Amino acid sequence: MAEQNYDLTIIGGGPVGLFAAFYAGLQELHTQVLESLPDVGGQVSALYPEKKILDVAGFSGISGQELVDRLREQMTLFPVTVKTSQTVANISGQLGDFTITTNGGVTHSKAILITTGNGAFTPRKLAVENAASFENEHLWYFLPKLAHFANHDVMVAGGGDAAIDIALMIEPVAKHVYLMHRRNEFRALPHSVTSLNTSSVEQMTPYLAQGLAATSDGRLDVDLKEMKTDHHRTITVDDLVVNFGVISDHAVFENWELQFEQKHQQIAVDSTMQTSVAGVYGAGDAINYSGKVALIATGFGEAATAVHSAAFAIDPHHHGPVHSTSVHLPDK
Ligand SMILES: Cc1cc2nc3c(=O)[nH]c(=O)nc-3n(C[C@H](O)[C@H](O)[C@H](O)COP(=O)(O)OP(=O)(O)OC[C@H]3O[C@@H](n4cnc5c(N)ncnc54)[C@H](O)[C@@H]3O)c2cc1C
Repeated sequence: MAEQNYDLTIIGGGPVGLFAAFYAGLQELHTQVLESLPDVGGQVSALYPEKKILDVAGFSGISGQELVDRLREQMTLFPVTVKTSQTVANISGQLGDFTITTNGGVTHSKAILITTGNGAFTPRKLAVENAASFENEHLWYFLPKLAHFANHDVMVAGGGDAAIDIALMIEPVAKHVYLMHRRNEFRALPHSVTSLNTSSVEQMTPYLAQGLAATSDGRLDVDLKEMKTDHHRTITVDDLVVNFGVISDHAVFENWELQFEQKHQQIAVDSTMQTSVAGVYGAGDAINYSGKVALIATGFGEAATAVHSAAFAIDPHHHGPVHSTSVHLPDK
């Protein structure tokens, strides 16, 4: 395959990578996006396509998938090369000539923007011996379509924002929803906890799932142990949705020739979003700095800053920030 040269390579096609690609188009950078999954959208498409997102500027509520669809549409206002099912296995070189190796081949880029989120994410699994035998039948780590839960008894396990979001998402269609957590308190935004407390979701705390068994009528018995006691109870459900977070696979960076300073296992950046390697930038969940908030909204801002910085590093005479209204869209 012929080697290709780009101004900017964006590694990771989650929401932040997609917005960065649009911004790079605005800056007239010849850009490629490399995404390891078969489709773009990152955590939003993979983990919560049907959730209503409330905190993206300009939208009082937008489903995850609609946000991704709109980002894709916005990105393609300008020419951009998007390569899916391509995992970046190595990057080497320096500002002006980086070499990027994926399972699809080798490309060259003057600058790089890392928007890999939590890496190739794998859900943290339920520590119950026979759990794997129920996966994708009664036990879910990635949500199926909401319609699947219609009239079902559903238990959601987990104590963070995402677990509460999932329980509240399923509640309107399900017969009954339990939210089970091993602590009495949920680690979630006050607004989420208030919504939970005013919903019909039955909170079961502090419990730990210790066993799973199929019932004779094709349902699932979940054996729950009360924390710090020997008290057990069994709840029969149709579905158990486990949201214990995802295991971030930043090990991927460890194999790259270029190494970056890290902060709490994420890539450290300065205020221009540059990593410790000149010409390599970061944005979104992949990066960390003092006061970092891991939200889509913050990732969008970081992406704009990173693209401006990259454009300037590639060409110091590059014009500064432009307003999108002053740009003529290319004829399609
Ligand atoms: C259940 C849940 C609910 C949430 N709700 C909200 C909310 O309401 N509002 C909000 O603002 N945020 C929310 N978040 C957080 C939000 O989803 C993240 O902040 C956002 O997805 C970060 O976007 P990103 O593009 O940085 O990373 P990601 O979405 O993680 O995308 C990174 C992409 O990079 C790809 N990738 C990784 N490694 C490689 C590699 N080596 N080569 C090529 N590609 C690679 C991955 O496959 C992935 O597609 C929620 C998160 C969860 C889990």
